Amino acid sequence: MKKIIALLFAVLLASCGEAPVQVSSITQPSHSWGDYHWARTEVPTILPVMTSIAPYWDAHIAVTTSAWTFSALSFSPEPGEPLGRNKRKCTKLSGVVHVCSAEYGRNNWLGLASITIDNNSHITSAVVKLNDSYLTSPPYDFPELKQHVACHELGHTIGLDHNDEIFDNEPTGTCMDYSNHIAEDLGPNEHDFEVLEEVYSHIDPYTTIGITEEPEQTGCKGRNPKCNGNLGQLVRSNKQEEMWIKDLPDNKSLRTYILLVQ
Ligand SMILES: [Zn+2]
Ligand SMILES: [Zn+2]
Repeated sequence: MKKIIALLFAVLLASCGEAPVQVSSITQPSHSWGDYHWARTEVPTILPVMTSIAPYWDAHIAVTTSAWTFSALSFSPEPGEPLGRNKRKCTKLSGVVHVCSAEYGRNNWLGLASITIDNNSHITSAVVKLNDSYLTSPPYDFPELKQHVACHELGHTIGLDHNDEIFDNEPTGTCMDYSNHIAEDLGPNEHDFEVLEEVYSHIDPYTTIGITEEPEQTGCKGRNPKCNGNLGQLVRSNKQEEMWIKDLPDNKSLRTYILLVQ
């Protein structure tokens, strides 16, 4: 299965003119994000990913959603909101990963991933924002950076944290690595999947996956692209990322990683 994923990843990248990527097998300590995971009543489960993105993101999201497939979960593309005002807002919907690209402004961030979790550590919705204000203009407009950011943010939406937060060491071959070697950290590595297989090794008495009619009124509503005040409190930061936490009604909470401009 992993070989098939690696092959698919290489073929998809090659098809958009980029170099193939090797999946590394470096072993790291567990790096789940608080054991957060989507609740499922059956295995395998398909997680809808709604894309409201500019066309130049299509190949990167296709590569990334395929690359993150493992035994318990795979992404299923769904039609997104039409490009325009809603894309910038990136509505948070129950049971869905919503991926948006827009010119969110030169506010010092490249991308972000927000997840809503219930009181059982189950993810109930996720939003990814890709900031075209940086990623479509030099020196940030190279394909490897787009790929790294897309892969990193999608990894957060299924409950992964960073496998390595040291910037200056050797790359570990996963996009969940903090790294100065972006080109070597474009996709998941074997250890990412070991962590995911463990976190998703059970089934749950209920599911948090599936599109519902109701938008979750928990996301960023402010005009500020970073939604200061709506993301809650800044609880951790370093030169690469900020982490924000906000308490929500019904014993839920919003957790957000913001990937900063280097
Ligand atoms: Zn569970
Ligand atoms: Zn991160």
